[in-house]
Amino acid sequence: MLEFIDEELNTLKQSGLYRELKTIEKVSGARITINGKEYLNFCSNNYLGLANHPKIIKKTIEIIKEFGFGATASRLICGNTVIHELLEEKLANFKGREAAIVFPTGYMANLGTITALVDENDTVIIDRLNHASIINACRLSKAKLQVYPHLNMAALEKILQKSGKYKKRLIVTDHVFSMDGDIAPLEQTAKLAKKYQAITMIDDAHAVGMKIPDGIDIVMGTLSKALGSLGGFVCGSQDLIDYLRNKARSFIYTTALPIAACGAAIAALEVIEEEPELIEKLRDNVRYFENLRLNVAVSKEPRRSASGSLAIQSPIIPIIIGDAAKTMEIAQKLFDQGMLVSGIRPPTVPKGQSRLRITVSAIHNKEELECLASLLPPPIPK
Ligand SMILES: *Cc1c(COP(=O)(O)O)cnc(C)c1O
Repeated sequence: MLEFIDEELNTLKQSGLYRELKTIEKVSGARITINGKEYLNFCSNNYLGLANHPKIIKKTIEIIKEFGFGATASRLICGNTVIHELLEEKLANFKGREAAIVFPTGYMANLGTITALVDENDTVIIDRLNHASIINACRLSKAKLQVYPHLNMAALEKILQKSGKYKKRLIVTDHVFSMDGDIAPLEQTAKLAKKYQAITMIDDAHAVGMKIPDGIDIVMGTLSKALGSLGGFVCGSQDLIDYLRNKARSFIYTTALPIAACGAAIAALEVIEEEPELIEKLRDNVRYFENLRLNVAVSKEPRRSASGSLAIQSPIIPIIIGDAAKTMEIAQKLFDQGMLVSGIRPPTVPKGQSRLRITVSAIHNKEELECLASLLPPPIPK
């Protein structure tokens, strides 16, 4: 009965799409050890180095000593502690909103929020390159799913013009796109939403230290990337948050976020407040690396935002190779040279758009960035 598994695995292997885990034995800032050998890490989402920041470790241990590790039940039963509420208060503050709600992961935040907001009478309109968790949430919601080409506001408007028949219209977009590092035109999105009376929701998972323009109703985010912990959250009006507490199934029917994860996220928010230079350092590193890599023949294309200006605020730097097998070969070669850079293939990105995905962190130093840039591949013969 299970032969199909073997067949499918073989197909994946033959097409260069088979995925394997790497086991990390030791972590020291941007340096990690795999199979006894040290590598420079250029694929983590630990943009500010908070996943192993000494202040955060210390504070988290204190909170675990007082409250234990797990929350023991869902939030609505008896898993809600002062630590969860303190975290939600801090998150609302952080994003400049009235209130916040935390979920066990960002994936579940998207799932619970979108399915609570729209159903078969409604439409949900999304950018083609939105994160997989948003797409799954839309499918599960049963709302009419409509997709516009990446960053294309004219196409979004066309869809909105024809969507009057739906009871509600929900526009969802990543703020910073996770595989391209480019930035959604949020001001235009908000303007269109206002004109056609749609609700706006953004996924802020990779938006480190970036401003959110007015007119965005719902801000979703994760504790697992720049904040170095685990968990997802949604910020918005108090009414929205009360509604989600009553309606979001991935909030109601699951155990509350572990207190340890809440503690680490609270400590991370405090460190960001106390050490604003971390975000400056990240921006500096991104700028520095972007200039280095533009001199590499294989990647002459600078990243641009929708307005055409250089999009150099985001720490995600894709280098498009095209072919999946070729991409993995280059990633392997970099790995052999001590650089951990992820090769991204379908189904994560469309076919023919396989790429190296480099993430820059505040904890890299200039020599490390120079080292990676010097090892990036020469142009690929067509
Ligand atoms: C990682 C990610 C998520 C999911 O967040 P987790 O907390 O890791 O589950 C959602 N949206 C985007 C854009 C992401 O990159």
